[in-house]
Amino acid sequence: MKKRLPQAQPKGRSCGQCNECCTALGVPEIQKTTFHTCSHVVEHKCDIYANRPEVCRIYKCAWLQDVLPGPERPDRVGVVIDRTQSTLNLEKRIGAVVYTARITRPGPDADEVIRRLSVDNVVIIVDASDKRRIVGPPRVMPALQAIKQEGVNSLASK
Ligand code: SF4
Ligand code: SF4
Repeated sequence: MKKRLPQAQPKGRSCGQCNECCTALGVPEIQKTTFHTCSHVVEHKCDIYANRPEVCRIYKCAWLQDVLPGPERPDRVGVVIDRTQSTLNLEKRIGAVVYTARITRPGPDADEVIRRLSVDNVVIIVDASDKRRIVGPPRVMPALQAIKQEGVNSLASK
């Protein structure tokens, strides 16, 4: 997992029972791979919370940062969305905010969250088999097409 953008957490939002990022993301420090639930998840909590890796401490998904509506907490919709450092150069090139959406539970809820987010933003969609595809507003598609030819796999952190 690469470093995520440090951003303020809005008042009133907390992870609660969600630990979806503990499945979706990779944590190299503890050899945890993407799309596998971390072995330290015990009853919705981290059993090494006080000593958890730095990447776990700083990670805040887009829902926690108030980008997505309250009912769309990742564990409820089956998708973990964030704006990663690795997409900043891409954002400059295409002139749009870029999110990465890791689908932990495929279905209409995840699809709808991504569909709405992609009306104004670019979304790199990653599934459990590590396949990637990009959706976004028509205005950025010409620039995206050129970038896609460079290889979509380089566009999202693991
Ligand atoms: S996915 Fe978001 S809301 Fe859920 S535990 Fe991770 S940071 Fe918290
Ligand atoms: S170490 Fe704790 S916070 Fe980090 S992925 Fe595992 S359960 Fe989640």
